[in-house]
Amino acid sequence: MKEYDLIIIGGGPAGITAGIYAQRQKLKTLLITKEFGGQISRKAVKIENYPGFLAISGQELIEKLVNHLKKYPIEIELDEVTTVEKKEEKFFVRTKSKKEFVSKALIVASGADPRPLEIPGEKEFLGKGVSYCPTCDAPFFKDKVVAVIGGGNAGFETAIFLANYAKKVYILEFSDKVKADKENQERAEKTGKVEIILNARAKEIKGKDFVEGLIFEDRISKKNIELKVEGVLIQIGNIPATSFVKGLVDFSERDEILVNFETLETKVPGLFAAGDCNIGKYRQIIIACGEGAKAALAAYDYLRKIGAL
Ligand SMILES: Cc1cc2nc3c(=O)[nH]c(=O)nc-3n(C[C@H](O)[C@H](O)[C@H](O)COP(=O)(O)OP(=O)(O)OC[C@H]3O[C@@H](n4cnc5c(N)ncnc54)[C@H](O)[C@@H]3O)c2cc1C
Repeated sequence: MKEYDLIIIGGGPAGITAGIYAQRQKLKTLLITKEFGGQISRKAVKIENYPGFLAISGQELIEKLVNHLKKYPIEIELDEVTTVEKKEEKFFVRTKSKKEFVSKALIVASGADPRPLEIPGEKEFLGKGVSYCPTCDAPFFKDKVVAVIGGGNAGFETAIFLANYAKKVYILEFSDKVKADKENQERAEKTGKVEIILNARAKEIKGKDFVEGLIFEDRISKKNIELKVEGVLIQIGNIPATSFVKGLVDFSERDEILVNFETLETKVPGLFAAGDCNIGKYRQIIIACGEGAKAALAAYDYLRKIGAL
């Protein structure tokens, strides 16, 4: 079995940056990821808060990050990590395609997956009108009426993007006010196609072969209301993708990995967690990149301290 100084799990902003920093320290590094880009690939409108770029599409930023990473001789494995074990000071990483890799240090940068609504019809109509990814599926909703669940920034950006295609877009927000930035609220209004419904609890997605309607409860009147929609875009936040380190590290009650923010080390020596998979409060690309850099530098210090370099 091939042994590495460092294995990085995740090909989003945190994992890619960790890879660049590890390579600059000449660490023998393997990066394992299901795909490159992570959540940026679900970004519906341009990114306007990554320093150095006034506005850049998610796809373009991913390409730039990956090209930078690939300038270095890092090894890359496109696969899903299923388990991690620590035995005799080494990390054993197993993947879905039954491969096993070993390293002396490990950075988990596996980010987060979309949070499901968990209502009837959601699973049945996934890919048949139900979607978590506006950039992937928006053209499918050309001239249709659609609903976006979630009135935060992601929900509003989804609605703004969908308005380029759809006839009408409802945004359903559970609470009595939307949480999106004022700027996103103004942009949504300008489309002339977005209608916001507050105090709405989504209850069921209906249809035959494809989505035909969405039932929600008006939380004030307690009445069930059916909207005739052909698409439901779910944007209610994320769940950390951390199940493969269960039993190894400590977690918050929301499955975020607990770390020491000075080094991003977990309670397990040599195991670091960077980006949206840890307990950090602010979830942004620049923060994930910063944490990827920090974790790689801390992993280098750790490897030197244990005499592995
Ligand atoms: C719709 C949307 C819009 C956003 N807009 C902005 C914005 O405008 N500006 C901003 O700064 N931030 C924005 N964000 C937040 C930003 O995208 C995240 O904070 C950032 O992507 C986190 O990076 P990460 O590397 O920690 O995780 P992720 O981006 O989630 O990447 C995780 C990576 O790990 C891989 N992975 C997961 N599990 C495994 C496994 N078991 N095995 C192997 N690989 C695995 C995934 O495939 C992925 O490549 C947005 C997020 C969303 C969802």
